[in-house]
Amino acid sequence: MSAIIIDGKAVAARLREGIARDVAAMTAQGSRAPGLAVVLCGDNAASAIYVRNKGRAAEKVGFRFQLQTCEADTSTADLLRLVAGLNTDEAVDGLLVQLPLPSHVDPDVIADAIAPDKDADGFNPANFGRLAEGRAAPAGATPLGCMELLRSYDVPISGSRAVVVGRSLLVGRPLALLLTNADATVTMCHSRTRDLPGVCREADILVTATGRPGAIDAGYVKPGACVIDVGTTPRDGTVVGDVDRESVEPVAGWLTPVPGGVGPMTIAMLLRNTLSLATARRRSTVVV
Ligand code: NAP
Repeated sequence: MSAIIIDGKAVAARLREGIARDVAAMTAQGSRAPGLAVVLCGDNAASAIYVRNKGRAAEKVGFRFQLQTCEADTSTADLLRLVAGLNTDEAVDGLLVQLPLPSHVDPDVIADAIAPDKDADGFNPANFGRLAEGRAAPAGATPLGCMELLRSYDVPISGSRAVVVGRSLLVGRPLALLLTNADATVTMCHSRTRDLPGVCREADILVTATGRPGAIDAGYVKPGACVIDVGTTPRDGTVVGDVDRESVEPVAGWLTPVPGGVGPMTIAMLLRNTLSLATARRRSTVVV
């Protein structure tokens, strides 16, 4: 047996094509194109590349893209003023503040300030709370990307046992909620979990998001399980995942490669979130 390799690039490309068609239909009916604004604070080189890629992808599907940059020493008060301006800017449907922020800025304070109905990456705690209640809400692009990959490959979710390794706000926690809302029985693991391999071996769906290259080997995987590798650690000019592919591929039923699995989905889901927010704002209802 060898795992089906989940092609995130292809799924993301199909999603972007669908979004571009929806935007074209929207503008043909006289609506303005969805607007995405990204705030980039400071001079983190990787963040600058991510933001540039987001801008290109947004413009390619027909969105209006707005980049707001500010210096690394920008005060929290000034950053909050910038976010407040975008919250009330009628041309902006989706708003994202690129992380990490400079160390003197508390990301929670910024997340609190993003208007929930423009929250393109599910940062605002009101949206996280809605998700926790099992209600519709914008969620983070990366966890949504994982869900989309499972659905695209018809991986059974309802009734399955899912294990998520990692409990960050960016990935693990929202993904555990999304899986729960899709009727999986979910265990969230972290650095204090006892017998991690044993817990992981119970999983029909195993998601790893720790950033520990190669840590998940065949000893963590139930035969036939779907293994979603969110981890990305830069190495030798590329990125490596949390999964030891050589050992896991013969055991798993499905496997996301790194690169080319979850990574390409993140921007596609950000675009889809923004389109959903734009559509909801036009209908004046709450979201997604
Ligand atoms: P993070 O905030 O550093 O969280 C890492 C999580 O892993 C924490 O919950 C931590 O547990 C857990 N962990 C660390 N060592 C562990 C161990 N030995 N056993 C079990 N759990 C352990 O990282 P993140 O932001 O969630 O990102 C995780 C990875 O995903 C990184 O490689 C990141 O680059 C990648 N990522 C990729 C994408 C994408 O688009 N593909 C997007 C976002 C993130 P504690 O809570 O106990 O410390």
